[in-house]
Amino acid sequence: VCSSDLGETDYLVSVLEDITARKRAESERDELLRNLEHQVSQRTAELERLSLTDALTGIANRRHFDKALAAEWARASRSNRPLSIVLIDIDDFKVLNDTIGHLHGDACIKAVATAVQQVASRSSDLGARYGGDEFVMLLPETEAVGAQLLAERLKQFVDHITMPDPAHGAPLRLSLSQGVACALASRQKTAADLLLAADQALYDAKQQGRDRISVVTAL
Ligand code: GH3
Ligand code: MG
Repeated sequence: VCSSDLGETDYLVSVLEDITARKRAESERDELLRNLEHQVSQRTAELERLSLTDALTGIANRRHFDKALAAEWARASRSNRPLSIVLIDIDDFKVLNDTIGHLHGDACIKAVATAVQQVASRSSDLGARYGGDEFVMLLPETEAVGAQLLAERLKQFVDHITMPDPAHGAPLRLSLSQGVACALASRQKTAADLLLAADQALYDAKQQGRDRISVVTAL
């Protein structure tokens, strides 16, 4: 508004600007950012999934198991419910690898992984490859007797896995040693104690001649 000395309005100046292009550019930029955010969150979820999965077998890896054990231990402490672990190791797998070759050895590991997943079948159960020829089943709300039953079921599954023996033609069979441990998390123990007990039980099973299940209940 321009006014004369007497305070009267002489003329009005108005400036108009067409902001359509600017608004469009802003909304295109927002759309682009939203797309990028979506892609980043998808990639992050995929990376997270990969970091928890064993590359050879496609089942949960040790990292996944460690995370699940911590979570289930906390849950078991709150609910005062038992938590069981079965630690599993293929017997004489080095000999098997040497006999049938590493690739067929890999196929054995995949077959055991499939069996572990079939046995640890409740939605809260977790079957994982612990590393090498070792596997583990995490069984929330499961007493030692129940965990032992699942270990026996796993044995039955694995009894049916056969590999051709290149030297003799007769099919080779796999056997497992398994260590079962069960704990009530509220009794001032730690998840590491439970794992250690299962490891000790597995060691006992190996020492007693392999192809067997050893159980620790007092924890
Ligand atoms: P034990 O009865 O005492 O368990 O004897 P073992 O021969 O099975 O001994 P151990 O469990 O210590 O050895 C596991 C072997 O598994 C060592 C390694 O050669 C083999 N192995 C580990 N990872 C893989 C894999 O991804 N593929 C194959 N084919 N073999 C593997
Ligand atoms: Mg072994």
